Amino acid sequence: MIDFAFVIVTVCLVGYLMVSISINLIFELKKQTERREKDKRHSCFICGQTEDQILKGIPGALSWKTHIQKDHNVFSYINYILYI
Ligand SMILES: [Zn+2]
Repeated sequence: MIDFAFVIVTVCLVGYLMVSISINLIFELKKQTERREKDKRHSCFICGQTEDQILKGIPGALSWKTHIQKDHNVFSYINYILYI
């Protein structure tokens, strides 16, 4: 009887550990994905600066959209590389 109880308790503990590890992994992956999406939306692909850094650091910077669409447009760089 004690052996059977030990097996049940052990199986429950191992199951609990596996479920908790899986939940932690899922939350960590979700957090990484959110961080990546935030970086994609709020940091420049070319210079790597964030939106706040650009607006505070560059005196002539008009807006974040201007920086992304004119100053550091990714497609302009691709066209330049293809031209070379
Ligand atoms: Zn930039």
